Amino acid sequence: MAEKAYAAVLTEERHFDYRDVDIPEIGPDEGLLRMEAAGLCGTDYEQFDGHFAGTVYGTLPMTPGHEILGWIDRLGANAAKRWGVKEGDRVIVETSIPCGDCIPCQDDRPIFCDENMGYGIRLGFDRIPHLWGGYASHLYLHPKSRLHKVPDDIPTDAMSLFNPLSNAVRWAAVKPNLKAGQSIVIEGPGQRGLLSVVVARELGAEKIIVTGTNADENRLKLARQFGATATINVEKEDPVERVHELTDGRKVDVVLDVSAGSTEPILQGIEMVRKGGNFVVAGVKTHNALNDFYTDKLIFNEISMLGVLSSDWTDTAKAVEILKNHWQELKVLCTHSYPIGEAEKAVRVLGREIEDGGDPVHIYLDTTIAP
Ligand SMILES: [Zn+2]
Ligand SMILES: [Zn+2]
Repeated sequence: MAEKAYAAVLTEERHFDYRDVDIPEIGPDEGLLRMEAAGLCGTDYEQFDGHFAGTVYGTLPMTPGHEILGWIDRLGANAAKRWGVKEGDRVIVETSIPCGDCIPCQDDRPIFCDENMGYGIRLGFDRIPHLWGGYASHLYLHPKSRLHKVPDDIPTDAMSLFNPLSNAVRWAAVKPNLKAGQSIVIEGPGQRGLLSVVVARELGAEKIIVTGTNADENRLKLARQFGATATINVEKEDPVERVHELTDGRKVDVVLDVSAGSTEPILQGIEMVRKGGNFVVAGVKTHNALNDFYTDKLIFNEISMLGVLSSDWTDTAKAVEILKNHWQELKVLCTHSYPIGEAEKAVRVLGREIEDGGDPVHIYLDTTIAP
């Protein structure tokens, strides 16, 4: 066993250092994870680029990596009982570490826990024992961490999809209460949009319509491959008219916006959802405000508009079930992987600052390779 762990540390905006860290002593209630992979999403780029400066997410120095997959390396006796795992087990670790006592925790909203604990997002590198993020060889397992045991036979790349897939479960199905036989429009074919197609298909949705732009041709093709019944290039066709045609004027039960930046899909989505339907808003628009939005449309059509940010325990459990059955099919989304020593490159490819051979759909760090 290595005497030292190593971690990539974001020391300031847009700069990583690599540090050796002493492996901590593990008491009866805690554990140590040997990292296998850290999945990346838009949050990783926003952290790197300084978008969170001045907020609870902006702590520096910080080891990023909140989509955590690894093997139990050391484990206290009480922790083993509590988590139902043993040394050597392969697990995924929930990002949030809820205190269990505050109002949001009591209210079953652990992601809003007052204690502000969260791997790779809120806990800075300076806090002992330093191993609080996934861009590292090891992760400290706090007594209040939450783990899911996962199968050994799903390859690293496919397994690293668990976090965006958990989001897809919550955003496309759980929150809007999508049912078999219903219809959904998914605006934006990023990794979460494409995985939402799979979730909707598994649930038995009858019509699954995905929108994208000229730059998304490859992704729209993937959407059809995953079971989208129609795709719309919004730069070539009017998406609202097209959805009305595809549904014989009935519109759809659910619209999920997972497109980034542009607010146009919000205005268009309102015209696509049926009376009494649900509109899930998940695509971050950064500082773009919505103009010409008439809230009366929500009132007269009884449309529910729901904001979503992440996912939680039951969504992750469902995502693991989907991966067990469909990982071979979903592997195609895993386009790029990098060792920890190339964390900066990985994040910049993710943010489309640089290119590295093809469209980056899902990127993960292979944390088993030393920098
Ligand atoms: Zn993420
Ligand atoms: Zn709490």
